[in-house]
Amino acid sequence: MNLNESKFGINTRAVIRGEKVDVSTHALKTPIYASNTFSYLSMEEFFEAAVNAYGIDPKEFTYFYTRTANPTTNALELKLASIIGCRGTITTSSGMAAITFAILANYKPKTKILASDSLYRSTNSFVMEILPKLGISCDYLDFRDLNVLEKQLQKNMYSVVHFESPANPTTRCYDIRAICDLVHEYNAETMVTFDNTFASPICQQPLKLGVDFEVHSSSKYINGHGDALGGVIASNNNETLSEFRRQLGETLGQTPSPLNSYLILRGLKTIGLRIKQQSKNALAVAKFLEEHKKVTRVYYPGLPSHPQFKIAQKQMNPFGGMLAFELENDDKVRDLLNNKLQIIRLAMDLGDIQSLIEWPYIMTHYDLEYELKVATDVTEMLLRLSVGIEDVHDIINDLEQGLSQI
Ligand SMILES: *Cc1c(COP(=O)(O)O)cnc(C)c1O
Repeated sequence: MNLNESKFGINTRAVIRGEKVDVSTHALKTPIYASNTFSYLSMEEFFEAAVNAYGIDPKEFTYFYTRTANPTTNALELKLASIIGCRGTITTSSGMAAITFAILANYKPKTKILASDSLYRSTNSFVMEILPKLGISCDYLDFRDLNVLEKQLQKNMYSVVHFESPANPTTRCYDIRAICDLVHEYNAETMVTFDNTFASPICQQPLKLGVDFEVHSSSKYINGHGDALGGVIASNNNETLSEFRRQLGETLGQTPSPLNSYLILRGLKTIGLRIKQQSKNALAVAKFLEEHKKVTRVYYPGLPSHPQFKIAQKQMNPFGGMLAFELENDDKVRDLLNNKLQIIRLAMDLGDIQSLIEWPYIMTHYDLEYELKVATDVTEMLLRLSVGIEDVHDIINDLEQGLSQI
């Protein structure tokens, strides 16, 4: 079957791409290939297979050892490439494996890294704590101000520029195209790595806006069911990707397990339906919260009151399932989270079909430097809500009854 990508819609691609009927058993679904290694009858057969060991074209992959390539994982990588809309992907054991590798692999000696000040907490620890130990230094900037960013880029000392949008936890948005244009204008060799986890590939396509490497935590929306960790690096540069595959899998060993690849492959088939429902629910929940008298502030990229609504409108559609809101003070937040909610669960995760709430100041961002907390609006009274696929009136009723008790 020769599938013309543009001919098929995203939901069709999510169902059919990447997998093929197993020739020996006729199994329609990709099995979990729980085998560390792959055996060949003769050296002749081995050499023939070796031509495609790290195949530039992953459709032609051959397999030797699962750390480097595995058929279940490969099916996931092909489906992801089809959904993200890029030439190739490499999957990893977690989102952090994808992010740390994408930054390190693009780094060049005697240069620096430039990162946005509003980042996923562990990405922030990586650039602030781990990279300096390797002698790599990183500058932070508020990427909302393009004039300041331009001045910094004129110094031409960065090999990697990393950011995310909407950013964790407040859904702060940045103009992806404008930032990529500026970066590449000052240095065509500088690589932009971009964490698209919060939006998901359904809501936002950063590679089309100038990003060089799009990364995701597949543990979140890509899998969607909160039962497997994984990550992905996506790009249109297949030669670099195949070099990265060799370094990442064979040398660093950041490969996913075939079981997790299977779970994520399965979750991915419904991503279009899930994100549609989650975005619809999140908009309704955001509107409800905005009207509620005990809620002092709501951040949702799809609300006209969002500080970067215009930017979000340009680059997102729909607006995703993540939102944040503030109550009057931290006592109210603690009170709400103390056994008041019945459907929405208190947990540090997101992108799950189940609605999850957390308190960034005390939970995910507890050890973030105080100045960065202030700069990125991580206040004591802020809550982050990842809206699930439950019936929206049940989510809203849960918040309503919870808020009425505080
Ligand atoms: C969860 C998350 C990560 C890290 O992913 P893991 O799979 O947990 O390693 C990175 N970035 C963002 C925005 C995330 O939400």
